Amino acid sequence: MCSNIQLIFEKETENELKNFVPQMDIDEVDINEILPNTLQRKDLPIPNIPEVEIVRHFINLSNRNYGVDSGIYPLGSCTMKYNPKVNENIVRMPEFTYIHPLQEENDGCLELLYHISKLLGEITGMDGFTLQPAAGAHGELVGLLIMKKYFESKALKKLKIIVPDSAHGTNPASAKMAGFSIIEIQSNKYGEIPLDQLEFAMQEGDVAGIMLTNPNTLGVFDRQIKEITKIVHENSGLCYYDGANINPMLGICRPRDMGFDIIHLNLHKTFSTPHGGGGPGSGPIGVVNELIPFLPEPCLISTQQGIVCNENNDKSIGRIKAFWGNFGVIVRAYAYILALGAEGLKRVGQVAVLNANYLRVLLQKNFNLPFNRICQHEFVLSDRGMPNEVTTEDIAKRILDHGLYAPTIYFPLIISGALMIEPTETESKKSLDYFVEVMNKIYEEAKNDPEILKNAPHNTSVKRLDAVLAARNPILHD
Ligand SMILES: *Cc1c(COP(=O)(O)O)cnc(C)c1O
Repeated sequence: MCSNIQLIFEKETENELKNFVPQMDIDEVDINEILPNTLQRKDLPIPNIPEVEIVRHFINLSNRNYGVDSGIYPLGSCTMKYNPKVNENIVRMPEFTYIHPLQEENDGCLELLYHISKLLGEITGMDGFTLQPAAGAHGELVGLLIMKKYFESKALKKLKIIVPDSAHGTNPASAKMAGFSIIEIQSNKYGEIPLDQLEFAMQEGDVAGIMLTNPNTLGVFDRQIKEITKIVHENSGLCYYDGANINPMLGICRPRDMGFDIIHLNLHKTFSTPHGGGGPGSGPIGVVNELIPFLPEPCLISTQQGIVCNENNDKSIGRIKAFWGNFGVIVRAYAYILALGAEGLKRVGQVAVLNANYLRVLLQKNFNLPFNRICQHEFVLSDRGMPNEVTTEDIAKRILDHGLYAPTIYFPLIISGALMIEPTETESKKSLDYFVEVMNKIYEEAKNDPEILKNAPHNTSVKRLDAVLAARNPILHD
């Protein structure tokens, strides 16, 4: 913001515009009588600039931005889908924006929270939910704290947790934060978990269980999912499901039916909240009956007086967020789920998978596809075999020149030079075809004119940044 204001000053005109401000027609007050001297700003520079210039300045700045409202945003693992604008209207209703978390309980909002918990229960199969976590990673931490408290309540010492190498990056970080040490299992050639290694790891005795991202960061659904949860349970472990990418499975299969005990969802990915740029988000946690007492407080319960909150549970892990979490995100999700219904949600999942596979098949003609199998919501290409040593970064930067957003790059780490592509269900065939056209053009350039890729982007307001210098010598303010 600072630099935006500076820019306005740079646009100041020579013309005397201050006369446009009408003369004061009231008596001037003595500011010292109202505000102590120490709180007064000495001078307030006001840029000398016509309204039209200011409007153009901010509109031009906004045009430099790129969002899902501008075009395809195939950022793997992020589910950057288009969110219906009607849900923005709903969450802005005064009945939602003018409430206070400490007002009377029977205002309908608790009912909304209670009802969406039930809907999420239906979607995932879980028995109880908390809506409080503010993001996926926050949900992971909460889920793992529940796991920890559960084992403590049984006086079992469980210090380790299994996290496969195909997990989302937040999984090992959350496990560490919750105090577990991590056993990493390497995926096999199908991008799945080798069961013998899982069995071996579980036999260590003090293993709390597994934290599984499914579909994993390769866009692969582990076909042995039921065996995985069986092995963990047989060794008295619990199974945590990272459901941030549940989009492709909506209405088709449920984590509970696969044998999971704790899951989180990312409402801001799957259920209609514009996201990116750091929030707000919502990462509800769902658990099986046996773990409900450990959920954070306050919990919502249904009584004859309506939905009320309950805070008298000594097994609970306690409070993890003020009040009820990011309410606005939850309202959008509620509206989205009700509008689509069971059939609509299933269609979301089906089309998300169809779109990803459509791109996968078309792009593998020119690009390396390390795990060549039917994918879920996303798939991963690599820069292996690109002509003239063109890299993933070159490809990603050149995509920007065509007015599109680039996929997630260099993640997952298990594929060198990864390009992780998630088109989502809200892209039309025309939009997908344009993405393929751009990628194929880039491949031709890699063969015939690689320099244009190595110096890309050419058409953006900011050219290629020196990422190494930025990391070594960060200048964090003007
Ligand atoms: C996005 C994502 C997360 C983290 O969610 P945040 O809301 O960004 O904290 C965790 N796991 C997976 C699989 C994800 O895609």
